[in-house]
Amino acid sequence: MLAPDVASVIEERALPDGGLHYPALVLNADFRPLSYFPLSVWSWQDAVKAVFLDRVSVLSEYKDEVHSPSMSMRLPSVIALKDYIPAARKPAFTRFNVFLRDAFSCQYCGDRYPTHDLTFDHVVPRSRGGRTTWENVVTACGGCNLRKGNKLPRECHMHPRLKPAQPSTWELQENGRAFPPNYLHESWRDYLYWDSELES
Ligand SMILES: [Zn+2]
Repeated sequence: MLAPDVASVIEERALPDGGLHYPALVLNADFRPLSYFPLSVWSWQDAVKAVFLDRVSVLSEYKDEVHSPSMSMRLPSVIALKDYIPAARKPAFTRFNVFLRDAFSCQYCGDRYPTHDLTFDHVVPRSRGGRTTWENVVTACGGCNLRKGNKLPRECHMHPRLKPAQPSTWELQENGRAFPPNYLHESWRDYLYWDSELES
């Protein structure tokens, strides 16, 4: 039997770039990605370790191999966990998840921006007793945020396009599907983004 730390003895110089370009897409036991956004991807080292620990099944492989003194194997490109990991029922209240809930678009003007041009707006301003919660914080662009200032929505006629609420994990996953990452190996496509594939 091979030692669990077999990946550590596999020589990285077997791969010209140290394996940076061989990420493995990680699927849950139901063959859906563990996470869409950010897309669940492991380094080849972690993927190979998990294979030898028998924690994952290999669904697809790269053409390239890694070699140790005693064995060689093709690098996994898609793996699926053998044990299902249930999704957290409540997503964490983070800046990123608020952006994701609002699909990276300003909830006042509706325009979509890169994250560094987005900020947060308290629908009921903090100075008026508003709290920092899913129900009172929305994504806003700088211009709208400035215009709204310390006013209540009815005072400036600026109402969020969607009533802010705590999203489910499923809703965040669905929003994340709309933002494919830059890197997509062809072997991943069977498991991802059915809609975008149909269009291309
Ligand atoms: Zn705006």
